[in-house]
Amino acid sequence: MSTGLTTETGRTAWTTLTLPATAQSFVKASDDPLESRDPATGELVATVRVSTAEDVATAVEHARAAWSRGGWRSDGAQRARVLYGFAQTLRANQEHLAELLTREQGKTIHEARLEIAGSAEMTEYYAGLARAVYGRSMVLKDDVQSVVLREPMGVVAVITPWNWPLTLLIRSLAPALAAGNACIVKPASLTPAITVEALGLLDGQPDMPPDILSCVIGSGSEVGDALVGSNGVDMIAFTGETQTGINVMKRAAEGLRKVALELGGKSPNIVFADADMDKALAGTENAIFTTCGQICTAGSRLLVEEGAYYEFIDRLAEMTRNLRVGDGLAESNQLGAVVSAGQQATILDYVAAGKKEGTLVAGGNALTGDPYVGGNFVAPAVFTDLPPRSRLIREEIFGPVLTVQRFSDDDEAIALANSTDYGLAAGIWTQNLHRAWRVARAIDAGTVWVNTYHHFYSEAEVGGYKHSGIGRQQGVEGIHEFTETKHINFDGSPTLW
Ligand code: NAD
Repeated sequence: MSTGLTTETGRTAWTTLTLPATAQSFVKASDDPLESRDPATGELVATVRVSTAEDVATAVEHARAAWSRGGWRSDGAQRARVLYGFAQTLRANQEHLAELLTREQGKTIHEARLEIAGSAEMTEYYAGLARAVYGRSMVLKDDVQSVVLREPMGVVAVITPWNWPLTLLIRSLAPALAAGNACIVKPASLTPAITVEALGLLDGQPDMPPDILSCVIGSGSEVGDALVGSNGVDMIAFTGETQTGINVMKRAAEGLRKVALELGGKSPNIVFADADMDKALAGTENAIFTTCGQICTAGSRLLVEEGAYYEFIDRLAEMTRNLRVGDGLAESNQLGAVVSAGQQATILDYVAAGKKEGTLVAGGNALTGDPYVGGNFVAPAVFTDLPPRSRLIREEIFGPVLTVQRFSDDDEAIALANSTDYGLAAGIWTQNLHRAWRVARAIDAGTVWVNTYHHFYSEAEVGGYKHSGIGRQQGVEGIHEFTETKHINFDGSPTLW
């Protein structure tokens, strides 16, 4: 595949994709086309066919038949070959995929490249584990032994959001396939093209059996709901908003289908006065402004200790005002467009509410005129002096809006950190390791970073406490999520009792 762009000064021409392409029979979609547009310009990026209820039923039926045929679910070496091959193909197509990702989602090209590279790396990690889905054996008495097996669930629906559409796809899909399941993917309606393009590379692997992978496209309320409500689906791996996750769980409960839920966040990022301030400042910027704050783990609540408060805020406000916002395809920009006009409007509503309650020390306005025409751009914002009950402090905004609160000691920092319904991630900046350990243990969050932020490793589990989710992804637990455990007991005793 070729790539058009990416220059400092402008874009090269883009040929609108029409998906699914003729050969892409893994996409079950026969209804009217949906348009996918570039959030930076409004340009048409792709037209993608939408799935009907019948398409969903066909995908489920074919997936179940493919899985029931066997082979895939018992051949770890085959699964490893497919996943390794896919990882290599992702890398070989990095520039094309990164360009498409930026054009469809709005993120910067640097981040898009990282997303493709990270997806390839995670696929490789699970390719390795595909041959190591181990159970246990036990000798229980002289004549009694047991084997505890991990078996694949069967048919898994993977439902993804639009903010990191490949990372969050691969994080569920790769372990689900590695464990021996058949998978049906439903991407968010804002990022179908990048999903279909990447899945096409997986489907094209020589050892990939037909119908073990399929994709359906369309709204959550129709296509997503049809998938979650299907009795032919054994498990739903859902990543998205907390309220959607609750709806998905209720629907899945009708058929007692298993769910793994990766949901929203409102993560605290705590800077103690003894921190390395340069590193903490850079980390704070990364924590909140990555993907324009449209990231579940965004460090959207900055907590700063009293002694460092004023100096830190001054430096943070200046740094925020100097961030370069614009077309994600231009190599020099640090923040791209937000994903849609609707998302931009939501962010601006929060900013307007915040201005009535607190002090806006940087940004917060829509960026208009040249070079922003046709795009959804927001200047990154920092608020201080908000009341603790402010919606900006409690609710997930999913935009480049940072709130700052002050604290006077460790206990107050912990109390503020734990004061929302969410529990996805947290950051701690201090040179006192005793304090770091105590505070990290006291925070209700699935991931706590000390003197860093947003560093993820395929080997290390992620997931949410409280309203941020159920289950864990990545790491060994990430593959175990997609298995059932079976105990087989062998009794060689001469009598029953
Ligand atoms: P969303 O909940 O609106 O949609 C997520 C997916 O669910 C989409 O594919 C959507 O079409 C589908 N969906 C919607 N309603 C459905 C239904 N009733 N049945 C089945 N599927 C349905 O989320 P979004 O706006 O795409 O993504 C942003 C949200 O995702 C944020 O809340 C963010 O925090 C969260 N998120 C969480 C993680 C994590 O790892 N915890 C990662 C990324 C994003």
